[in-house]
Amino acid sequence: MALTGLEIYKHLPKTNCKDCGVPTCLAFAMKMATKQIALDKCPHVTDAGKAALESASRPPIQLVTIGTDETEVKIGNETQLFRHEEKFHRPTAIAVTLSDALDETELAQRAETIGKLIMERVGTQVRVNLVAIDNQSNDAGRFATAAKIAVEKTGLPCILMSSKAANLKAAAEAISGTRPLLYISDPQEAEAAAGVAKDERCPLGLRADGPEALAELTPKITALGVEEIVLDSGTSGLKATLEALTTIRRLSLKSFRPLGYPTMAFTADADPMMQAVEASTYVAKYAGIVVTDATERWQLLPVLATRQDIYTDPQKPVAVEPKMYKVGEVAADSPVLVTTNFSLSYYSVEGEVEASRVPAYVLSVDTEGTSVLTAWASDKFNAETITQALKKSAIEDEISHRKLILPGFVAVLSAGVEDESGWSVLIGPKEASGLPSYLKNQWKAV
Ligand code: SF4
Repeated sequence: MALTGLEIYKHLPKTNCKDCGVPTCLAFAMKMATKQIALDKCPHVTDAGKAALESASRPPIQLVTIGTDETEVKIGNETQLFRHEEKFHRPTAIAVTLSDALDETELAQRAETIGKLIMERVGTQVRVNLVAIDNQSNDAGRFATAAKIAVEKTGLPCILMSSKAANLKAAAEAISGTRPLLYISDPQEAEAAAGVAKDERCPLGLRADGPEALAELTPKITALGVEEIVLDSGTSGLKATLEALTTIRRLSLKSFRPLGYPTMAFTADADPMMQAVEASTYVAKYAGIVVTDATERWQLLPVLATRQDIYTDPQKPVAVEPKMYKVGEVAADSPVLVTTNFSLSYYSVEGEVEASRVPAYVLSVDTEGTSVLTAWASDKFNAETITQALKKSAIEDEISHRKLILPGFVAVLSAGVEDESGWSVLIGPKEASGLPSYLKNQWKAV
């Protein structure tokens, strides 16, 4: 929780010397509370005051970095319980498991599959971020070999998961320099695993039976010099895990330091569809990492889509550039479709036009990133704005007809658009999913 100006003021020298360029210590404190000035601008603050302020102004949830270079994953540093108050900042990392009990050929094949789990949604690449190597064999040698294969074949940062600290050490040494998350599943081995994490300079995943047990464990681990910790409440099943994740988030935001770390959750349902439901739920509330066995794209796409939606800024609609887009090899007789510049609306239309294999122009009207019905209701998608966008696109110079296809939900705008633009208006389907059939069967160019 951010400190108030008065809380900061208590730790300042209160001499009003002005050496910081601010007239009084109180004014300095107020500026610091709104992040307009940094503590180091005051040369007179005591070491004790500095320590108190630094500790109190630490983010309530520790930042944890897994991996290195461009594939590194950062989780934690969140400050809110509800995303309408402020956006969530560090998207949940999705990890897919890889058992070291597989033979080397199977292991390499599954690792390659995990590395290729990249999909596209609303014009953005979404992907699995981590490979979680599970020491099911209980053998240190196999675990180390699996870790090497996983890193090489997936190109992803990894989580090393074992019940034995010695096995974590063997695997971490085998992929030294890649900064894996070392996850110890046996709380009895946690302190030994902390020693390995400290030596290897890696973050540590801790498991205990519930938030209370975790809160007792983390101070012992930080006392050993490990600061980057990820918490697993040890729960199984959607209800219990959701409760634990929520409890940990709530308490950490109240600056309860023993639980001030990002969390991880595991999908456990045997039903593949329920695994996707579980994973999506944990993404929404409040897992830093979700570990799943799922490797099917139909299972992972809804999880990745949920993450993409949850981690947008709810106060800023996701928009595409308002302009005329060409989808496919357009010609002079290609249809012209109209939609808004809300990215989900635009990409839904674009995807369906591609699927129809009927090349088309798609005019994305600037509605400040709102969807068709929302924009129509707020008078941002009307005869005037559509006509202006049409004129600005200069599409008239490229095509041989004057027909415009409006979304079926705003058929009421057709007369106005015809009057304003001089174009003929055709009423398209209400949903983008109706476009392939409409374009193939009903569209007729002049
Ligand atoms: Fe106060 Fe420090 Fe600024 Fe001097 S330099 S006015 S002591 S905050």
